[in-house]
Amino acid sequence: MGKKYQGMEVGYMSDNCIFCKILKGEAEVSLIAQNDFVTAFMDLHPIQEGHALVIPNKHFQWFQEIEPVYLEEMFKMAQKIQAAILNSDIKCDGTNFFLSDGEVAGQEVMHSHLHICPRVVNDGLPMGFSHGGGLHEWEREKLDGVAMRIRKEI
Ligand SMILES: [Zn+2]
Repeated sequence: MGKKYQGMEVGYMSDNCIFCKILKGEAEVSLIAQNDFVTAFMDLHPIQEGHALVIPNKHFQWFQEIEPVYLEEMFKMAQKIQAAILNSDIKCDGTNFFLSDGEVAGQEVMHSHLHICPRVVNDGLPMGFSHGGGLHEWEREKLDGVAMRIRKEI
């Protein structure tokens, strides 16, 4: 893989990983679904009822390390879980799918995982970006410049 985050410690041992322990059957879990590539279960500290996680069945610390087949299965599973939540009696007026990559981004378990968070009208949860308040529109030239700096590395 390419460049890593600056100042980040790498090489986290999967022996100490709580998600790997779950996969090995060594830790308690509220399982929702599992296949050969991914496992979905309830977040132990839910931000809302129905808050679920999807993890690859192999220890990848960073998003960019996740092998394509696992990535694909993570999002397919997330879609399946969301549909199931909508069919259940769990309140869900919308959903946030998010993945925190790196400690500074809020990643707490160093085994990459995708959150599925049901949202309810007026739930007041501090998630998502509000384009209405505070965030101003950037000039096209500035946006083109940022796009170019990313594009030339693809
Ligand atoms: Zn792990």
